[in-house]
Amino acid sequence: MYVYRPEMLRIRFGAVNSFLVKNRDGKYLMIDAGYPGMINTFKKKIAEAGILPKDIQLILITHAHHDHFGCLSDIKELCECNVAVHEYEAHLLQTGTIKTPPGTNLATKLISKIGQSFTDGQHKLEAVDPEIKITGELSLDSLGIDGKIITTPGHTEGSVSVIMDDGKAFVGDLAMNVFPWTGPIYPVFGHNRQQILKSWKKLIDLNVDLVYPGHGRAFGIRHLIRKYEMITGKAV
Ligand SMILES: [Zn+2]
Repeated sequence: MYVYRPEMLRIRFGAVNSFLVKNRDGKYLMIDAGYPGMINTFKKKIAEAGILPKDIQLILITHAHHDHFGCLSDIKELCECNVAVHEYEAHLLQTGTIKTPPGTNLATKLISKIGQSFTDGQHKLEAVDPEIKITGELSLDSLGIDGKIITTPGHTEGSVSVIMDDGKAFVGDLAMNVFPWTGPIYPVFGHNRQQILKSWKKLIDLNVDLVYPGHGRAFGIRHLIRKYEMITGKAV
């Protein structure tokens, strides 16, 4: 029986997205690996899409927060695939460390402080040793994908994004789109505000068309341009 396998699949692990992108040979690049303990969600979603675990070639972790690599160890074991992460954050995967990021506004600063006191250092995720440590721009051509990985620091020091030649961008938590009344916004947790804005400018300069955030729905780049101009007071 012929099963149509999608060019792209969004898997929602609760509040966080992960994406599968098909290459020229029908294999997949997986971007991010969800919350811990959700391997059954993953199995169900790929089965529904006619994708086998062995079809996944590589899992890229956009940044080492627990909601993006919590299920990585289970998925890697199932798919027997390689893992890539920025070299700055490889140690967090290798030690299974949960690190709560600082907030970027009053409310999230408070949440972050509480989170840090409860979780950091006390709970561990399954450790994963990544095969590929990203240090800079990386073409995805050898994976059969028309696109590249670029560094987009700000939410964390080692955040990376996937930029496809067709204008799609998978950006992890460089931007989020969870509150319908605000539209796409600046992440509510972040490491460095100036860096976030610089990385937004990178997306704009690369002529990205559609942004796929780690939380919430995809949105057009014009929303990001508008926010960038509002925050910086500079026209793009
Ligand atoms: Zn994050």
